Amino acid sequence: MAGEQAKQLAELIKTLRVKPGTKVSLSRDFDPAYKADFLKKKHGAELLKAGIELLADYQQRLAAQDTYGVLVCLQALDAAGKDGTIRHVMSGVDPQGVHVSSFKVPSAEELDHDFLWRYAARLPARGDIGIFNRSYYEEVLVVRVHPENLDRQKLPAASKGKGVWERRYREINDWERYLTDNGFRLVKLMLNLSKEEQRTRFLKRIDLPEKNWKFSSADARERQYWDDYQRAFSEMLSATSTPWAPWYVIPADRKWFARICAGAVLAQTLIELDPQYPKVSDQQHDDLLAAKADLEAEAPHGAAADPFAAEQEKDAKENK
Ligand code: AMP
Ligand code: MG
Repeated sequence: MAGEQAKQLAELIKTLRVKPGTKVSLSRDFDPAYKADFLKKKHGAELLKAGIELLADYQQRLAAQDTYGVLVCLQALDAAGKDGTIRHVMSGVDPQGVHVSSFKVPSAEELDHDFLWRYAARLPARGDIGIFNRSYYEEVLVVRVHPENLDRQKLPAASKGKGVWERRYREINDWERYLTDNGFRLVKLMLNLSKEEQRTRFLKRIDLPEKNWKFSSADARERQYWDDYQRAFSEMLSATSTPWAPWYVIPADRKWFARICAGAVLAQTLIELDPQYPKVSDQQHDDLLAAKADLEAEAPHGAAADPFAAEQEKDAKENK
């Protein structure tokens, strides 16, 4: 990636970040159709490819270092492109180092626990990237828009009622701070879709038979609560964008642009973490040399002592 473009991407990311402590109104502050002038769709695929290669490299180092973990929280309304973003942005990374967890309506067992329990059980290990396709933020979004969900959570009376959302915001912030202190970075992405683009995407899911499985009549019903969701998202973004775990609002009306933005925010987090391959100690280095000498002594008659080194030397000569 050219240096100038990397700088422009870093600037772009800054404009998507929800400044901690600010009061957000989604409709006023973030345009779902926004696109940065310096990016053109025809260059999108190339840029995404460069970003994916960079992610793959950093993910290997993250795994090798085994000190930090990364948790990506993806939140959005239906048809905003959560699945596609995961598919494209993570397409280059080692599947062993990435775990995707999707959260649906909670089960009876999950409702029998505190509200963060099922999410805690899916946190990434050190060295891993965990992706939450929907996350504990549903606990202040769908649960807030449809409070009957809260009734199902079997909370004691004192834990419901007035102030419950403010308390949940605080509990989430505290939990994220705890995770950050323990070496786990959060990448919180809200895919911000316009109501008209959602309508278009729903119709596509209805019109194309191979997309039918993605549409349910419940999705259309949820759409009637559009304004309630916008309010719940705005409050959630205002209350839970913190210095240790800021939110990014990704313009989602153009899928290609949303993917580049999502990839760029994740890449920036990894660049900041700057994970390093572990250094071998002097003792380990001596052990390696001793093992090398033993293996070289085993070379059959006529074979190179170290076929790999010989191959490398040959390649180097040819490429001169
Ligand atoms: P989808 O992601 O389209 O497969 O749908 C998952 C459904 O689960 C959505 O309708 C969400 O609103 C719902 N859901 C996710 N988390 C919760 C939660 N904590 N409480 C209630 N419903 C939830
Ligand atoms: Mg759905």
